[in-house]
Amino acid sequence: MNNLTILGSTGSIGCSALKVVTNLNRNNYPVKVKYLSTNSRIEALAEQVREFNPSGVVITDETKAKEFRKKFSFEKLEVLSGEAGLKEIASREDYDTLVCALVGFSGLAPVINAIKAGKKIALANKETLVVAGSIVNELLRKHKTDLIPIDSEHSAILQCLLGEGKNKIEKIILTASGGPFRTKSYEEMRNASVEDALNHPNWKMGAKITVDSATMMNKGLEVIEAKWLFDLPESKIEVLIHPQSIIHSMVEFEDSSIKAQLGIPDMKIPIQFALTYPERVISDFPKMNFKNYSSLTFEEPDYKKFECLKIAFDVLREGKTYPVVMNAANEVAIDYFLKGEIFFTDIPKHILSCLEKHTPLESFGLEEIFEIDRQTREISPVKTA
Ligand code: NDP
Ligand code: MG
Repeated sequence: MNNLTILGSTGSIGCSALKVVTNLNRNNYPVKVKYLSTNSRIEALAEQVREFNPSGVVITDETKAKEFRKKFSFEKLEVLSGEAGLKEIASREDYDTLVCALVGFSGLAPVINAIKAGKKIALANKETLVVAGSIVNELLRKHKTDLIPIDSEHSAILQCLLGEGKNKIEKIILTASGGPFRTKSYEEMRNASVEDALNHPNWKMGAKITVDSATMMNKGLEVIEAKWLFDLPESKIEVLIHPQSIIHSMVEFEDSSIKAQLGIPDMKIPIQFALTYPERVISDFPKMNFKNYSSLTFEEPDYKKFECLKIAFDVLREGKTYPVVMNAANEVAIDYFLKGEIFFTDIPKHILSCLEKHTPLESFGLEEIFEIDRQTREISPVKTA
């Protein structure tokens, strides 16, 4: 029996993870949901409690937590609140695997606590590796546990590497859909509405990652995520636009052979693989039909138009505490964009301006990461004329 904690269970990945739980239980792979969490969607959480009967839940928004306690009374359900609740649950003894489907920097502290408690991590929350990759890897070694990526590109790479032992990687090729603005001009992108940015061609995801896909910061974050997951320098990580999102990523080996992992764009597939790795379990998820795709196409990314992707490569090269600043500035800029307070193209401008103001640290620990994140969030984006 695999006992799961799913943080961020009311989000896009969280809901898909629960569908995976149902599929696994249906197919003789017993999984029990021990803890769930939401920020504010308490009605959806209550539905999940009814269906999966966890031991406890965390509601990070304190007002919503009070509302939940008033409105619902589930027998024997422990209700915790706030970020402290997330950290506490992550450290509990009575579960085995943490599925981190929280969004942004909020995933870091619970993941750290779970690793310290020796839990296996199934990670969707790429921002955790972006801001603290070296520390996470050190802790994984120290506490002798594993972190398996859920992100479809990284799951693809992991799958391509199965059975390859010490064979040398020439490079990895991260595919990217190019998002809703792939064929739009810079001018059109500048004037994009929130609705335009949230209209992703292939994937249904939470708002933050959908905007990240539109700026291509998502691919930038994934380049940094890949560095920490697969211990590769920036020179061995390539980004390739593949608008159909069928090839999820590829690995080229030193003999010039390339392995790719393919499938329809459905996050249930990499989530399930992260939970059953390295085994595979039968599923009723939709299957790929090649006859529906007359062509799979590829393009070079436009680093000038998608400045965020270039910034991420630069930040990865520079290292130090720059990724922490890039991540926080990006989250703040996305919030402003979603509230209609800045243009879409102001997002990279704000990130660059925060990076320029930053005095990087050569050596740092978690305390410095939290402090730099906090300081960066105090800087407000400016709307360009
Ligand atoms: P969503 O916004 O759909 O869900 C996020 C979840 O976290 C929700 O349960 C939300 O609660 C909760 N949450 C939001 N903010 C906070 C906070 N400050 N503190 C605690 N909990 C919070 O995001 P996604 O599921 O799309 O993405 C989750 C992570 O997975 C991201 O890091 C993303 O980059 C990554 N990912 C997502 C993919 C996808 O297909 N969606 C693909 C690959 C990676 P509430 O419901 O109340 O808002
Ligand atoms: Mg991805």
